Amino acid sequence: AVTWHIRLPDEAATLDFGRFLADELKVGDLVTLSGGLGAGKTTLARVVVQSLAGDEALEVPSPTFTLLQTYETARGPVAHADFYRIGGPGELMELGFEEIAERSITLVEWPERAAGALASSRLDIALDLDPRSGPDARVALLTPTGDFGARVARAMSL
Ligand code: ADP
Ligand code: MG
Repeated sequence: AVTWHIRLPDEAATLDFGRFLADELKVGDLVTLSGGLGAGKTTLARVVVQSLAGDEALEVPSPTFTLLQTYETARGPVAHADFYRIGGPGELMELGFEEIAERSITLVEWPERAAGALASSRLDIALDLDPRSGPDARVALLTPTGDFGARVARAMSL
C-alpha cells in the first residue's frame, strides 16, 4: 500500500490536519490511530470529532475506560473508540462495534487490539514522536486502503 508521510511540527499542526481530515470523512468511514502513549491519538481524534460536530469546545474525553463514545453531529453519528483495554472479540461484540461502525464515522485508537474485527476499507494513521524536529513534533504515516485510498489521495492531491 502507498503510505504518505506528514510532518506535524507542533500541536497546532496536528489540529489543522485533523480539521482537514474531518472535511473528507463521511458515514461508514473508519480511521485507525496507532502509536504509543502520548503520540497524539486522542488529540487528533478529539479535533476530528469537534470539527465534525462544528463545536471546537465540545468535550471529547479519552474513551480509555468506556472503550467507545458516540456523538451525534450534523455530519452523522461519530464513534470514538480506544481498544487498549479490550478483553477480546466477545467484548467487541458486546459493544456492538461493527454495527455502530457501519452507520458512523469511526475513529479507533489501538486498532491492533481488535485486528480481525475492522473493515478492510479504511485509513490507517500511525503517529510517532519526532524528537529531532522538536519536543512537540510528531509524524503521521497515512496508509489508506480500499475506496478510501483514492478519495483521500484526491482530496490531499498527493
Ligand atoms: P495518545 O492518545 O496517543 O496517548 P494524547 O493525545 O492523549 O496521546 O496525548 C498527546 C499529548 O501530547 C497531549 O498532551 C498533547 O497536548 C501533546 N502534544 C504535543 N505536541 C503534539 C502534537 N504535535 N500532536 C499531538 N499532540 C501533541
Ligand atoms: Mg489516547
